[in-house]
Amino acid sequence: MKVLISGAGIAGLTVAYWLRHYGFTPTIVERAASLVTGGYKIDVRGSALQVLTRMGIYDAVVAASTDMQGALLVDKDGTVVKEMTGDAFGHRVGEDLEIVRGTLCQILMDHISDAEFIFGDSIRVIAQSSDRVQVEFSKNSPREFDLVIGADGLHSNVRAIVFGDESRFVRDLGLYLCVYTVPNYLKLDCLEMQYSELGRVAAIWSSRGDANAKACFGFVAPPVIDLRNRAQQQQVLTSVYQGIGWEVPKLLSMIPSAPDYYFDAAAQIRMEQWSQGRVVLVGDAGYCASPMSGQGTSLALIGGYVLAGELAAASGNYRTAFDRYEKEMRPLITLNQDLGLKSAKLMRSKENKNVVTWLLEQAMRLAPGRLLEFFINRSTRRIHEAANAIPLKHYSA
Ligand SMILES: Cc1cc2nc3c(=O)[nH]c(=O)nc-3n(C[C@H](O)[C@H](O)[C@H](O)COP(=O)(O)OP(=O)(O)OC[C@H]3O[C@@H](n4cnc5c(N)ncnc54)[C@H](O)[C@@H]3O)c2cc1C
Repeated sequence: MKVLISGAGIAGLTVAYWLRHYGFTPTIVERAASLVTGGYKIDVRGSALQVLTRMGIYDAVVAASTDMQGALLVDKDGTVVKEMTGDAFGHRVGEDLEIVRGTLCQILMDHISDAEFIFGDSIRVIAQSSDRVQVEFSKNSPREFDLVIGADGLHSNVRAIVFGDESRFVRDLGLYLCVYTVPNYLKLDCLEMQYSELGRVAAIWSSRGDANAKACFGFVAPPVIDLRNRAQQQQVLTSVYQGIGWEVPKLLSMIPSAPDYYFDAAAQIRMEQWSQGRVVLVGDAGYCASPMSGQGTSLALIGGYVLAGELAAASGNYRTAFDRYEKEMRPLITLNQDLGLKSAKLMRSKENKNVVTWLLEQAMRLAPGRLLEFFINRSTRRIHEAANAIPLKHYSA
C-alpha cells in the first residue's frame, strides 16, 4: 500500500517508521529543503517512552538528551529566588526525557530504512476516488497513492485542503511563544534561568552540546500580531516586557541578529473527526495540544505509532483502522488538551480582576520561589497522569 505523508516532523517520521516496519510503502513530502533541525527543547514522557523503546531508539535519545542540570528562577532584577533541578523544573519524573526537537527528528529519520523522501515540496491538490488518492505537488509531477497522512503540524496543509480552513478548527489560547538562538554570553552549562509572572515568562538556557543559548518568551497578548513581521514582534515584546530588567532588554535586542527564530500563537486544534475518506491527520495537524501542554511531541509519537499499528492490524482496511485510531487516541488527546487549557488559563488569570488574582500577585511578590515551585509541582502531577493515560497496544503486521 502506497502512503503519502505530508511533513517530516515527529509525527510524520514516526508514522513512516512504523508503516515501513509493517510492510507499507511510505513517501514523505517535506516543505523544507532538508530535515528541520534545531529548535526548542521538547519532552518525551509516559507512554511515548514505550514508543521510543519499541522503535529501538530509546538509548539514542537518552544519549542525545539535553541533560539539563538545573534551573535558576530569578526576579525582575535577576536575583535568584529559587533553585531547582533540571528534571523538577521540566516536569520530568522517572524515565521522562528532554531533547532538542530537531535532534529527535534526526534520530527518527536515521532509523527509517528505505522510505522515499521528497524535500522542498508541498501538496497542492488532493483528489480522492473510491480506490485511490490523486495528489498534485507544487513542484513535482502528480502521483497516485492509496492513503494520505497529514503530519504537517499546527498549520497543516493537508487539513486546509481536505477538511477546511484552519479557522474552523483552531482554538487560540491568547498567548504567544517566541524562541531564538543567542550567544551563550552568560556561560550557562546545561542550565536554565527563568523569570516568571502571571502573563509573562522569559527564559534563557543552554543545553548539552550547544555552543549557543536559546532565548524564550511566552506572554499573553491580544491576537493582533503579524506572524510574519519580526520587527513588529520585537516591538510588541519590548512593550510587553517593559519593567523587567534582568537579561530581558539584552535578549530582546538580539532578535534582529538571531540565526533562527520561532514565533507563533499558542493554539490548539480541535476536530470532531481526524479522517475523511482516504486522508487522515496525525500529531499537531489533527490535535495540537499547544506547547502549554508540554505534550505535543509525546502525542505525535504515540499518534504515529497507533495510526500505523491500526493500519497494520486492519490489513490496510483504512476505514476500520481510522476508526480504531480515533477510538484509541481520543481520550488521551482530550486529557492532554485540557492540560494546555489549564496552564493557559493560569497564564491569563491576570485578565480576571478578582480577589484570587490579587492574592496570587501578592503571594508572587512576597514568596515568588515557593509559589512557582507549588505551580510547577502541581502541573508535574497533572502532566504525569495525562502522559500515561493510554495503554499502548502491541501491533503486528
Ligand atoms: C521549526 C519548528 C520549531 C518548533 N518550535 C517549537 C517551540 O519552540 N516550542 C514548542 O512548544 N513547539 C515547537 N514546535 C512544535 C512541536 O515540535 C510540536 O508540538 C511537536 O513536535 C508535534 O510534532 P508534529 O510532527 O505533529 O508537528 P511539527 O513538529 O510541527 O512538524 C510538522 C512538519 O511538517 C512540515 N510542514 C509544514 N507544512 C508543510 C507542507 N505544506 N508540506 C510539507 N511539509 C510541511 C514542517 O516543516 C515540519 O517538519 C516547533 C515545530 C517546528 C516545525
